[in-house]
Amino acid sequence: MESKPINRREFLKTAAGTGIASAIASGSVLAAVIDANKPAEPNKPVEKKETYSQVPTRLLGRAKIPVPILSFGAMFDIVANQIMLHKTLQWGVNYWDTAYGYAGGNSEIGIGQFLAQNPQRRKDIFIVTKASGAKDAASRTACLQASLKRMNTSYVDLYYGVHALSSPAGLTDELKQWAADAKAKGLIKYFGFSTHSNMADCLAAAAKLDWIDAIMTSYNYQLMKDANLVAAVDACSKAGIALIAMKTQALKSDTGDSNSLGNYFIQKGFSEGQAKIKVVLQDERICSACVGMKNVATLTSNVAAVLDKTELSRSDLDFMNSYAKQTCSGYCAGCANICSAAVPQMPYVNDVMRSLMYHRKYGDTPLAKQVFSDVASRVSAPIGSFDYRLAEKLCPNRMPIGSLIKEAQKLLA
Ligand code: SF4
Repeated sequence: MESKPINRREFLKTAAGTGIASAIASGSVLAAVIDANKPAEPNKPVEKKETYSQVPTRLLGRAKIPVPILSFGAMFDIVANQIMLHKTLQWGVNYWDTAYGYAGGNSEIGIGQFLAQNPQRRKDIFIVTKASGAKDAASRTACLQASLKRMNTSYVDLYYGVHALSSPAGLTDELKQWAADAKAKGLIKYFGFSTHSNMADCLAAAAKLDWIDAIMTSYNYQLMKDANLVAAVDACSKAGIALIAMKTQALKSDTGDSNSLGNYFIQKGFSEGQAKIKVVLQDERICSACVGMKNVATLTSNVAAVLDKTELSRSDLDFMNSYAKQTCSGYCAGCANICSAAVPQMPYVNDVMRSLMYHRKYGDTPLAKQVFSDVASRVSAPIGSFDYRLAEKLCPNRMPIGSLIKEAQKLLA
């Protein structure tokens, strides 16, 4: 079948249909797409020239390596989704974030498959992975060796030696020594950790250390109202630690609510998801926003958001902040110290809340079930049997913890 060139009107229609209507906000994205699909002149052989705008870069903390401000969250089966790797590189989204544990290993294996077929591209890609589940130096080394093998590479650019640090107590001398050894052997270039629980404490502690190069932390419009976290972000930035924001999307607003984030930003020419990326990156202490992107439509929409130079205004930021306050009871802020102290027999409330988020927001039920079952295996009784009333009282977001736990049990057990 003959392929038809796409014109501007059709592009806009397609963008709207795929949920990326606000890609129109970026003229350069549109130009790139249209240029790549110019109709051929009759009887003239056409050399297809595809030009893609490249996403801007920021320096990775004191390492001063330029990395794209939008990074590719590859927490899914990349073996079955090789096209996404090719597409990210077209836009300059060459920071790929994976983990030993993602998709049962198929995230790293998919990257390895790409590098086996395209070994010349290794030097162009900044690969980041994590030691999922490692408890000590030996298991961290085993994770790293397995990751290198899976990904067909002799080194990773940035290694998170702790996947999901929840307490500064995990920043031990043993970890520091391990990082130094792995760097000396040329297995990793930079070292850090990821965190989505007690982030303010973890970041504040890291800012006092000279051996943490980068941290991947939850950071979004909901969390930006947490003064302790913002102060810790500032301390890390001043210490030269690169901060990569994850979970930038937080809650998805209710489209039926005329006063929702989505309805507000669509008037401004952005989708809700684009506005959430823009607000995080407007904070220049953040090096890059790492966003899970399972399909080309989402990638294109996110690329459009970061190519577009429009800044969110003071009133946009005020709207987001007030919306965050109104809706915070639906968002777990990861301040696990608070609810853990209230229910010491079940100190994993925030993990259960995270499992619900994976299920509802990301649509990743297998991952949600895995997180839920990890929690269930660590407590002595069914998680629905504990008394969460004190946790609800202390929770700064006033989350209905008891009923959410019951819901998670029903959906994910
Ligand atoms: S449930 Fe509440 S107290 Fe517990 S981590 Fe979430 S927001 Fe914090």
